[in-house]
Amino acid sequence: MEQQIKELERQARQLETTVQDRKSLINKATGYGEEFLNSLSEKPAYVNSETMGKGVYELPFDEKPKDFDQLLQALKSEVDLPGLNPASGKHAGYIPGGGLYPSAIADYLAAVTNRYTGVFFSSPGAVRIENMCIRWMNDLIGYPDGASGNLTSGGSIANLIGLVVTRDDSGIKAEDFSRAVIYTTQQVHHCVIKAIKFAGLGEATLRTIPMDDHYRMKADALEEQIKSDKKDGRIPLTIFASAGTTDLGAVDPLDEIGDIAEQHDLWFHVDAAYGGFFLLTEHGKEMMKGIEKSDSATIDPHKGLFLPYGSGALLVKDGERLYESQHMSANYLQDTYKATEEASPADLSPELSKHFRGLRMWLPLQLFGVQPFRAALDEKLLLTRYFYDKIQQIDSIEVGPEPELSVAFFRYVPENGDANAFNKKLVNEIHNDGRVFLSSTHLNGTVYLRLAVLNFRTHLEDIDLILSVLREKIRKLEVI
Ligand SMILES: *Cc1c(COP(=O)(O)O)cnc(C)c1O
Repeated sequence: MEQQIKELERQARQLETTVQDRKSLINKATGYGEEFLNSLSEKPAYVNSETMGKGVYELPFDEKPKDFDQLLQALKSEVDLPGLNPASGKHAGYIPGGGLYPSAIADYLAAVTNRYTGVFFSSPGAVRIENMCIRWMNDLIGYPDGASGNLTSGGSIANLIGLVVTRDDSGIKAEDFSRAVIYTTQQVHHCVIKAIKFAGLGEATLRTIPMDDHYRMKADALEEQIKSDKKDGRIPLTIFASAGTTDLGAVDPLDEIGDIAEQHDLWFHVDAAYGGFFLLTEHGKEMMKGIEKSDSATIDPHKGLFLPYGSGALLVKDGERLYESQHMSANYLQDTYKATEEASPADLSPELSKHFRGLRMWLPLQLFGVQPFRAALDEKLLLTRYFYDKIQQIDSIEVGPEPELSVAFFRYVPENGDANAFNKKLVNEIHNDGRVFLSSTHLNGTVYLRLAVLNFRTHLEDIDLILSVLREKIRKLEVI
């Protein structure tokens, strides 16, 4: 048996790398990263490729090792080329992502050391780093001491956990679910509808409260609806407001909604996945006044803090409520249940083993300081206003309301022919061209194009390029 073990050990040791291996891997990887970043400004924002990355299947897993150069080559042609390039500053569709370099370094360090951040006992320092990130975001919202939270993979999961906490805290039973009511607007992010389903609340009533002409929830209509639901014997459960809707960038009147929630004793959740970090700016603070009245909030560092994808957060004003909803004990973890001064992420989320997500947020905040983040966010707000002003100088452009944050929407109204068909063609032209990326949406049957500015690499010259591409494509389509 020993001999057999020794032979297996010899083979298993292939999984460990030598100093030489590591040097070679890291040099090639950073070389790849450098080439990617140094050519980024010339790279298109979108590539409409024919093969759509199919080449990855030409490298099946097999028993034999492969060469790293060959794999990097495949990454380059099959992964980092086709489709959208979220690292590009010319990506101004959907809600753009970021990709701060220090976060990549943090992910590297987190993976090499592989600290276990599920429980404080296992990696107290790492858990402190995560809790520090949460505390910083809680301060940003204006939550008091005693607030808590969890670093999630994104806003969708944060909203889901938030809804489960609400459900558990309300004490309603399954037999009551069909009487429960959730209040939001038609502009709520669709992940909330999914969350309602996952939380078992599919039978609950979803009230989409009317919006004003800026696509913000009408607070008086909300109150009327709550009153009438109460009168009908329903159970008002929670208000899901948006602080920056994904589609249009509208901020619901949080201050008034907060008062209504308090008066009628229902949970108030703010989905600030997109807009939350604008709280670092004066304008954002003004727009989101009253956010501190909420009971919980979702915020996405992989949006407004420019982190790479994989970073969202749920914040809860009364930390106990989060803990009560999410903690659970297991026999095999008994050593970890010592009284600790810091909360363990595993007690505040459905996850147990998890990525050390805090490090990718902590490192850039430490290395850069907060100030450049604030400047970048203020810059994005101004760039959006700049675009909103300039686009109106193009004949026959019709714009939506003045942007509240960093989303603007508009459409071209041709003299002849169907406007919706024209704007669909326009967005297709832009995608086929690929130099810049915008997306489209529809509102009550009308097609609009959207500009969403949130990539930290988007600057004035990118907005100017977007404007000139738009002019060029409109001219082209008008001639046909
Ligand atoms: C992006 C977004 C979400 C979803 O977050 P993910 O991080 O993509 O899961 C939810 N709500 C709003 C308002 C968003 O902008």
